[in-house]
Amino acid sequence: MRTPVLIVGGGPVGLALAGELGWRGISCTLVEKSDGSIYQPKQDLVGIRTMEFCRRWGIVPWVEAAPYPRGYRQDNVYVSAVAGFEFGREKFPGMGEEKAPPQSPQHRERCPQDMFDPILARFAGTFPHVGLRYHRELLSFREGPDGVEARVADPRSGAEEIIQCDYLIGCDGGGSLVRQTLGIAMAGNPVLTYTTNAIFRCPNFLALHGKGEAYRYIIIGPEGTFATIVAINGADRFRFSIVGDAEKREYGEAEVRAAIVKAFGRPFDFDVLTIVPWIRRELVAESFGANRVFIAGDAAHMISPTGGFGMNMGIQDVVDLAWKLAAMLGGWGGKRLLDSYSIERRPVAVRNVREASGNLNRMLSPRAQKPAPEAFEPGPAGDRARAEFGARFAAIMRREWFTLGIHLGYRYEGSPIVVPDGTPEPPDEVSTYTQSARPGHRAPHHWLAPGRSTLDLYGKGFVLLRFDGAPAENLASAAAARSVPLEVVDLDDRAAAALYERKLVLVRPDGHVAWRGDATPADAQAVIDRVRGA
Ligand SMILES: Cc1cc2nc3c(=O)[nH]c(=O)nc-3n(C[C@H](O)[C@H](O)[C@H](O)COP(=O)(O)OP(=O)(O)OC[C@H]3O[C@@H](n4cnc5c(N)ncnc54)[C@H](O)[C@@H]3O)c2cc1C
Repeated sequence: MRTPVLIVGGGPVGLALAGELGWRGISCTLVEKSDGSIYQPKQDLVGIRTMEFCRRWGIVPWVEAAPYPRGYRQDNVYVSAVAGFEFGREKFPGMGEEKAPPQSPQHRERCPQDMFDPILARFAGTFPHVGLRYHRELLSFREGPDGVEARVADPRSGAEEIIQCDYLIGCDGGGSLVRQTLGIAMAGNPVLTYTTNAIFRCPNFLALHGKGEAYRYIIIGPEGTFATIVAINGADRFRFSIVGDAEKREYGEAEVRAAIVKAFGRPFDFDVLTIVPWIRRELVAESFGANRVFIAGDAAHMISPTGGFGMNMGIQDVVDLAWKLAAMLGGWGGKRLLDSYSIERRPVAVRNVREASGNLNRMLSPRAQKPAPEAFEPGPAGDRARAEFGARFAAIMRREWFTLGIHLGYRYEGSPIVVPDGTPEPPDEVSTYTQSARPGHRAPHHWLAPGRSTLDLYGKGFVLLRFDGAPAENLASAAAARSVPLEVVDLDDRAAAALYERKLVLVRPDGHVAWRGDATPADAQAVIDRVRGA
């Protein structure tokens, strides 16, 4: 069998790559060793940038129609136990009431993996040139100058086949065989915590305590932060997590049940569905690949889930990679284009894994700065101690709950395929986000008409935004000379012109600014060659 792009792994990142390539008209085949069932959903926060990609793919209504109840409140509540004392909370409405911020046409969504992966698979499956093949495990591969030969087997029968491809992309998760075969090391901290997750079912959970609907309960005992309970489907299923620490500890089912009762504050009826021990890591691959084999998602970075960045960052990886693969297969990508993938994405991963570990430390900070003992006693002195601790902890935790800058503010500073304009790099924000059309940054959102964002202009090829009819012919003809797909879009909009700051702004197929200026460059061909990685 032959395929232009072989994707290994059908988690959210591999599925997003299959969909993004399919949307670009690129044939690809995805192999996934399992049947695709999700026994324990991991991600549940589909970040705002991922939702912008979903908008581009036309699948926002599918996400909104996922079965997570849109009215279910998303509060984060800090408690001694779910049925115990409340220290404080950060209130958030249900997803149906969440508003898009001024910087984006979309807002984040709560759509857990067992709902989101099927949406991504359905989207990829709409393209006849995308093949999703479950029960297919990559066993090994060999890279040559003209392509890659992969050995794949059906784990049920052991039957093997050879798949030839131009490019092989490992989206095969933290244990990535692709990364190991390439001999790429991971840098960082291999163990932050040994954590144990359990999904339990309790249909009348809400009626058993007075805390109301919440997305997450963080349980803090006299010893400090001990566990979290997350409303994984906004109904009857919850993910309980014994956060643990860097010391290895394994829990049997009886111990997990006892810990759930402790976290709740008293015995109650529930069923434990799955128990998964896992290691929380802070690791980034030293390279994201080269030549014909690349890695993306957890294969390239392993991150604490505190913040909900992991999958979202992986989907950004493949949106960065997919147009470059399309350019190579389409014959207009330069020989250094694919090198820019690792150069652009690795610093974003380093930034995000650090932020997520910072969030973990903030969540665990009550282990060092414990609540006063009175905080666990009834009465007015207890109320005062709870209010004092709750206010302090809530202030610390806000950085994790408000992360617009992390999701939208990543930029490709110093990328060899971005032409700097000499302006200084603005600060990299976490909770706030100031839009910028500086080269390397995500091209800003602005409403051109009700329901029509500037972001809706970008995606398939390059877009040259033109304000005030500035001459653009030499850039357009330089692109045509190299078969680079480029569309000139005239905008007559004062606010958009102010936001983009220059009369001509060249936006890449992934929605990042490649170049900008008030007049076409003297050497337009050099600019086009640079942004196509020649
Ligand atoms: C508790 C928890 C909560 C999280 N919450 C969030 C969140 O809210 N938001 C967020 O963005 N991220 C979150 N994450 C992180 C997120 O789940 C991961 O980053 C994401 O699942 C990574 O996706 P992936 O496709 O790269 O890898 P995976 O999901 O690990 O998928 C890899 C796939 O590759 C397959 N595979 C492996 N080897 C082979 C092979 N040799 N051949 C064929 N197939 C193979 C595997 O079967 C698997 O299906 C969370 C993680 C945890 C643990």
